[in-house]
Amino acid sequence: MEGTAAVVGSGPNGLGAAVVLARAGLEVTVFEAAPSPGGAARSSDLLGPGTVVDLGSAVHPFGAASPLFSRLGLHRHGLEWLHPPVVAAHPLDDGPPGLLHRSLERTAEELGPDGRAWSALHRGVVERWEETVESVLGPLVRPPAHPLALAGFGLRAPWPAAATARALFRTEQARGLFAGSAAHSVLPARHVLTSAFGTLFGAAAHATGWPVARGGSQAIVDALVADLREHGGRVVAGTPVTDLDQVRPADVVLLDLTPRQVLGLRGLELPARYRRALARWRYGTASYKVDLLLDGPVPWRDPRVGRAGTVHVGGTLAQIDAAESEARAGRVPERPFVLVAQQGAADPSRAPEGRQVLWAYAHVPHGCDDPVAGERVLAQIERFAPGLRDRVLARVDTPPSRLEAWNANLVGGDIGGGALDGLQQVFRPAVRADPYATGAPGVWLCSSSTPPGGGVHGMAGDHAARSALRDLARRRRSGG
Ligand SMILES: Cc1cc2nc3c(=O)[nH]c(=O)nc-3n(C[C@H](O)[C@H](O)[C@H](O)COP(=O)(O)OP(=O)(O)OC[C@H]3O[C@@H](n4cnc5c(N)ncnc54)[C@H](O)[C@@H]3O)c2cc1C
Repeated sequence: MEGTAAVVGSGPNGLGAAVVLARAGLEVTVFEAAPSPGGAARSSDLLGPGTVVDLGSAVHPFGAASPLFSRLGLHRHGLEWLHPPVVAAHPLDDGPPGLLHRSLERTAEELGPDGRAWSALHRGVVERWEETVESVLGPLVRPPAHPLALAGFGLRAPWPAAATARALFRTEQARGLFAGSAAHSVLPARHVLTSAFGTLFGAAAHATGWPVARGGSQAIVDALVADLREHGGRVVAGTPVTDLDQVRPADVVLLDLTPRQVLGLRGLELPARYRRALARWRYGTASYKVDLLLDGPVPWRDPRVGRAGTVHVGGTLAQIDAAESEARAGRVPERPFVLVAQQGAADPSRAPEGRQVLWAYAHVPHGCDDPVAGERVLAQIERFAPGLRDRVLARVDTPPSRLEAWNANLVGGDIGGGALDGLQQVFRPAVRADPYATGAPGVWLCSSSTPPGGGVHGMAGDHAARSALRDLARRRRSGG
């Protein structure tokens, strides 16, 4: 199809949208505020020469599972998923850690008395993984492409993760693994629908794994940009868009922005009702990031934890739930839930020989920059890895305000483009038949504030671009 497209913002969704539009034949320009493309999927040598630090996203279960990324064949542009020997570990004060493996059978076997329940909960979703992913990575307001797969998954989804874990599992290992996976939703485990996250992340581990990108998450961005260029598109970096006239004329405009930024754009006439809905949009709990360079491996009390790509540092189910509830209530948790990535377990290129880059963030109250959070992140890791502090060669804390200064979409340090609770779980950013339509002719929203929400998978971009193309074809047919 002939025509021109402008995309504002070059996160994975903006780039995903741009590639879909370029492949459809449009002439695409992506405008990016930052000096380089990639949004929250960029990497740098933040911790010194020879280090590769993922400045935002690190671990990519839904990148590996993304129908868009596989359709595009991003491996042609050098993207390679690397898998750690253990998918995720959940260390505990007492007893061995919970370990999540690619193999469902091995995970179940090691979970002993909870093995059968673990299998029963995940097997059906793993067996219908591709259909499930296509449905959950799409707008839930549309009829699902695979109703049966979604129904199987949906039976488990509505329950709070805490209730599911307590009903099904007896050991803290299984409960912790499930609660840790559910906590990727950035919601307390007592919150409805968190079982959906627990089950989905668990099933993803067994179906596709939770890999990292060889050479840093930046490789995902570089592959998308290469594909865009291959199809005639271009990225104009260092160009914050404040007025839509900067990007016009264009037949379609896609905004990889969150509602607050959309409302701040000049030259965009939105229907009053949609504008009011965007003004009601709620941002969620923030992340406080801590990156460490260590002079060797993390001294985990149980060395098996060192083989995991992801470590859920938060203790028991009850402790994780309490930490998430504290952060939501506006207090820095004494013992925060900390997500740790050890990309080096899969990709030795991340640090100079003998060193290790450790990536971590804790959930803290929205917009809270209190440096005590950084100390508590270290204390939490040290709880399961005594002597960690003695190994630290370099440390960089990135509190919520700095995350937002780096990428305006991370409002108040919310890394998901808006809270994932209440109506916002399904209706992102407003209740409407096409969640990507802004109501302004030719202007579409494609960020993680639209379905399916946060994560590096590009699927919001894919769906938004397809909506835009369908609409453009309709306008052309009707001579508009
Ligand atoms: C610390 C952190 C850890 C994360 N961990 C993971 C993880 O392990 N796995 C995972 O899958 N996901 C993770 N995520 C989430 C994931 O990175 C995001 O959900 C994803 O990047 C969202 O993509 P997006 O395209 O919607 O927006 P973004 O990636 O946020 O990109 C938006 C882009 O728009 C640009 N922009 C904003 N305003 C303007 C403007 N006015 N003009 C021009 N450009 C503008 C920004 O500079 C940015 O480049 C993490 C995020 C963070 C911050």
